[in-house]
Amino acid sequence: METLVMKFGGTSVADVERIRRVARIVAEQKRAGHRVAVVVSAMAGKTNELIAWTDEVSAGATVKADCDDEYDVVVSSAEQVSAGLLAMTLRSIGVPARSWLGWQLPIRTDDAHGKARIESVNPDKLIETFNAGEVPVIAGFQGIDKHARLATLGRGAGDLSAVAVAAALKADRCDIYTDQPGVFTTDPRLVAKARMLDKVSYEEMLEMASLGAKVLQARSVELAMTQGVRVRVLSSFVEPGTPNPGTIVCDEEEIVEKHVVSGVAYSRDEAKVTLLGVEDHPGIAAEIFGALADANINVDMIVQSEARQPGRQNIVFTAPDREAARAQDVLAADRAKIGYEDIHIRRDVAKVSVIGIGMRSHVGVARTMFAALAAKGINIEAIATSEIKISVLIDAQYTELAVRALHTAYGLDAA
Ligand code: ADP
Ligand code: ASP
Ligand code: MG
Repeated sequence: METLVMKFGGTSVADVERIRRVARIVAEQKRAGHRVAVVVSAMAGKTNELIAWTDEVSAGATVKADCDDEYDVVVSSAEQVSAGLLAMTLRSIGVPARSWLGWQLPIRTDDAHGKARIESVNPDKLIETFNAGEVPVIAGFQGIDKHARLATLGRGAGDLSAVAVAAALKADRCDIYTDQPGVFTTDPRLVAKARMLDKVSYEEMLEMASLGAKVLQARSVELAMTQGVRVRVLSSFVEPGTPNPGTIVCDEEEIVEKHVVSGVAYSRDEAKVTLLGVEDHPGIAAEIFGALADANINVDMIVQSEARQPGRQNIVFTAPDREAARAQDVLAADRAKIGYEDIHIRRDVAKVSVIGIGMRSHVGVARTMFAALAAKGINIEAIATSEIKISVLIDAQYTELAVRALHTAYGLDAA
């Protein structure tokens, strides 16, 4: 008997018809004799709707919505609906089921509201549910902090809840059901020639997810990697019994066919912040990025260059679009200490990245990227590299063009 965690994302539970199909998929695994725990996201669009309400009521407030613990109270509510509906639907087709909210298990988190980290998952109630012959249906994306306040885990974190539950149950696998048949070389909604991967390494998947491939949430991949949870991504849009192999996320050693570049990712949720005429002396970068870190703002690409005026530097960095205004406030409050002349924010930028473990042992990967972009007349505004990825910041209007050009340039197009 295998223990499986089955996670269904928002599009998979978007309406009652889809919830019925999900129930049939769960029932099939239960009838095959497996111990099955289910994790669900909110019905598609519901989280956005709730976030918009929190934005509306907090407009103009000094504390921004996603730093406020009441934000979590509001936005976590949508998962309660889908968990209850799926448990009811399972019961209606003869599969005993019981819903569990994060606080009821509990899933304990820190108190970074809006993007809390999971500290522990107590599996006791899940095991009791299994022992009673029932399928536990867990509301994803939520937990409870040490002050007994609800906490949400960040956008797309239903995946993280699923992997954390799988780790706590020592599950044989965590199956992430979504609206695509697996992980592709790039977003199949953007590039029709994207190819599905049979297997992808944790490391590449982590980079792809961190760089914008929404199919898995980055922290869930990180947790799967550190806890050794085997993850599979597959479609919830097919009836049980139809072939649905999906993509396995696994250790690099398991992958036979290695490509120099395995995937292309993009993110439009970026903002480019430019600090002009920053005083140039030791400790300035620590001051700027320390202040941003204290405000829990994730900074990504950083470029420093000499300014025209002697003794001054320009510093460019990217941050999530949603956090750009807050970054500006933080830096404005710290202006006297940093001593910059001006600050600009550009929101119409995109980050496009190529990822592959083969980069470690191949030269010329960057040249191919830059040449492919140049051939399309796309200007590069910032560059960031790591051992297995190269990212560039470009004008957002060229995102699609850039992703397609790179997909072709690295020989990833499907025949
Ligand atoms: P869910 O609601 O199931 O959590 P998401 O919308 O979070 O689903 O993620 C699935 C979406 O991720 C797909 O519809 C697809 O457009 C997008 N995506 C981006 N990059 C990739 C990729 N490399 N492979 C598959 N899907 C991708
Ligand atoms: N409902 C949450 C979101 O939209 C979590 C998830 O879907 O995974 O971000
Ligand atoms: Mg998702």
